[in-house]
Amino acid sequence: MAHPKHADVRERYHRCCGFCGVGEDDAGGELTVDHFVPLVAGGGDDDENLVYACFRCNLFKADFFPSDADRLSGNVLLHPLRDDCPLHLRLDEETGRLEALTETGRFHIRLLRLNRPALISMRLRKLFHSLLTARQVLLESEVRELRAIVSAQDRYIERLESLVGRDPPLGSDGE
Ligand SMILES: [Zn+2]
Repeated sequence: MAHPKHADVRERYHRCCGFCGVGEDDAGGELTVDHFVPLVAGGGDDDENLVYACFRCNLFKADFFPSDADRLSGNVLLHPLRDDCPLHLRLDEETGRLEALTETGRFHIRLLRLNRPALISMRLRKLFHSLLTARQVLLESEVRELRAIVSAQDRYIERLESLVGRDPPLGSDGE
């Protein structure tokens, strides 16, 4: 049965997994609601504790909750909205792999297996799509510039034609 706040959590996370970014379109349906601090560890149903998560991230995360020793060594999970994830993780745009910048980043990637082949292929697809979009924007602006040049040339030609029509050069009437 869906969590009572399922619809709210789904919108807050824009219908994408907070951990791996997979969207409902790629996952083939709605995702799940994860308790960031598991219920067994005392986590509740407050908004901040509810993360929209895909089935796999939810499965890999399971009931993980860091012990004191884990915390000391940086073995904690990053909260998708609360933590500054780019401080810990970086996307390698060549390979589509997520790289760790910190020990916490390393742990986070390892626990959630964020370099699953399907995720890498999704990231590369998104990167390719954004490259195509950028290229399209560039081409559209080139087309606008070319149209402006053509229309300026047209005006210039019209002007020349009107000058020629009004005041034909000497000798042009066959005298
Ligand atoms: Zn996920």
